[in-house]
Amino acid sequence: FTQDRIRNFSIIAHIDHGKSTLADRLLELTGTIKERADNKQVLDKLVVERERGITVKAQTVSMFFEHYGQRYLLNLIDTPMHKDRNVKLGTRFKGHVDFSYEVSRSLAATQGCLLLVDAAQGVQAQTVANFHLAKKQGLKIIPVLNKIDLHGAEIHRVASEVKSLGMAREPLQISAKTRLNIEQILPAVIEYIPPPTGSRTSPFRSLLFDSWYDKYKGVICLMSIKDGVLRQGDKIQSVHSGQKYDVTELGIMHPEQTPTKQLYAGQVGYVVCSMRSASEAKVGDTFARVGSRVEPLPGFEAAKAMVYAGIFPVDTNDFQKLDESIKKLTLNDSSVSVSKETSTALGQGWRLGFLGTLHMDVFRQRLEQEYEANIIVTQPTVPYKVIRKGGNVKYIRNPIEFPSLDDTSRSVAELQEPMVLATMVFPEEYLGSLMDLCGARRGEQVDYGYLDETRVLMKYRLPLAEVVTDFFDELKSRSSGYATFDYEEDGYQKSDLVKMSVLLNSKPVDALSVILHRSQVEFVGRDWVKRLKNVIQRQLFEIIIQTTVGNKVIARETIPPMRKDVTAKLYGGDVTRKMKLLEKQKAGKKRMKKIGNVELPQSAFYDFMGSK
Ligand code: GDP
Ligand code: MG
Repeated sequence: FTQDRIRNFSIIAHIDHGKSTLADRLLELTGTIKERADNKQVLDKLVVERERGITVKAQTVSMFFEHYGQRYLLNLIDTPMHKDRNVKLGTRFKGHVDFSYEVSRSLAATQGCLLLVDAAQGVQAQTVANFHLAKKQGLKIIPVLNKIDLHGAEIHRVASEVKSLGMAREPLQISAKTRLNIEQILPAVIEYIPPPTGSRTSPFRSLLFDSWYDKYKGVICLMSIKDGVLRQGDKIQSVHSGQKYDVTELGIMHPEQTPTKQLYAGQVGYVVCSMRSASEAKVGDTFARVGSRVEPLPGFEAAKAMVYAGIFPVDTNDFQKLDESIKKLTLNDSSVSVSKETSTALGQGWRLGFLGTLHMDVFRQRLEQEYEANIIVTQPTVPYKVIRKGGNVKYIRNPIEFPSLDDTSRSVAELQEPMVLATMVFPEEYLGSLMDLCGARRGEQVDYGYLDETRVLMKYRLPLAEVVTDFFDELKSRSSGYATFDYEEDGYQKSDLVKMSVLLNSKPVDALSVILHRSQVEFVGRDWVKRLKNVIQRQLFEIIIQTTVGNKVIARETIPPMRKDVTAKLYGGDVTRKMKLLEKQKAGKKRMKKIGNVELPQSAFYDFMGSK
């Protein structure tokens, strides 16, 4: 295939607007897969994905298609989105994306995209956000209205919404479900999206845009070949790390791995190259032949964790097992950062960094369900920035690292917190209530306007910390589920931050400290002592629970002592029963943590984290 017979494109859409269904239709139409009656999605491969509608890994596929007597190689590059439409994870609503980073990396492997919009739902927050991502990268965008078979489809209205985003092209009108007009899609892709540029005769250069771990083959990379040719046996090198690798296998995804002799400039395919861990496969990295000096491709930035949390086994005996499970899960997801953490209250555990709270919840759910691990996840924290008076900058990913009051007054010039730019779309009747919400979450309005007569598109700059708690749930409940939401990172801002500690009988519980904006301390402080009181059992002495900032007590609760010895109710004569009970208590104590004189089972922390 010469380059002008290749097209690299992706489908971008708001959740549930039909991306996976359309992708499957295109595979059928090109004979890449057999037509199926059961409507089961082929591209969403992982079981978790099928069951829950969560797309965990991008699926990329090459198709062959004939157009005016010419054969074309069409590479459909999926944009990974963690999402959930069927279940509530925990008590929270899901349906937002926290991976604009990964989406933009995938888009970098394409020259254009289909922007798919549900004709009944209209333009939503992720439609807007994805549109801007694609536009920023200079991609050709083909608007497509899907689900026109639905009675509620409002083709006219939605077409004008699409136009108001700034798209000149008339949208195609299709039903991915009934297959209506889907034959118009690929000709439009060929005619409107340009072929990849780059030269076969230049030195080899490729972009890594996805990777996963395969039990038999090891790390598999998806690469977009920008220049030159790659063959089996070639020695290549990461421009980012300098690491060298031997290419042992390569080929195209059709839809499964199909080995080929080489991959040429313009092609997209998989490469197996003796990488030992997925963490070596940095999305956005450039690869070149060993010894050749090439310019790195633009835009490399390591995946940035936006949310950190400590993870600890409920039963400390599970540490080893959990360690293995976390290793296995992170093999497939290089965007999770892992380091060991030790807590006096919770023992040995890990500090994990995620791209967002949904990412965190998906990871947690997989740990709990696939690996049957009982875990305690601490309050998530965002990366705060401490700027020292000398100009030295440190990122804080754990409240334990927060500077003390003394330290702060002596040597800290400024504390900063990460900000996001949030996009929201909703019917106008919710405007007041959602502006209140954003205001209460310390947001600042950036933009506001109408998408059509009744629907509003609003942008706010908000602290990330306010968004990763229950912002999305609130947004949903205040808008009867109608508001949609997306966010992207937006730098740092000076902030009045403090560390709140929890004390049990004057002894701090390290795992429960948390960094807060000063304005939230009262509310959170009161809430936490109440919730702790509910999960801590009475002991032989009084327990005082306090939340504090520095030396100042924010809130306090007391748990009165137990009145009698537990064994007192047993008859004096029944020694064996008494012994058994004492044995049992002893065994239970092994799993207890001592905070000062207060004994706490790990499960109390688990209960606290899960309580509301
Ligand atoms: P994704 O989240 O964008 O990948 O969306 P899916 O492809 O999973 O589709 C979401 C839901 O919409 C599924 O229940 C599909 O069966 C349904 N759907 C997709 N396309 C159409 C369509 O053209 N018409 C109708 N009526 N339903 C559709
Ligand atoms: Mg999907």
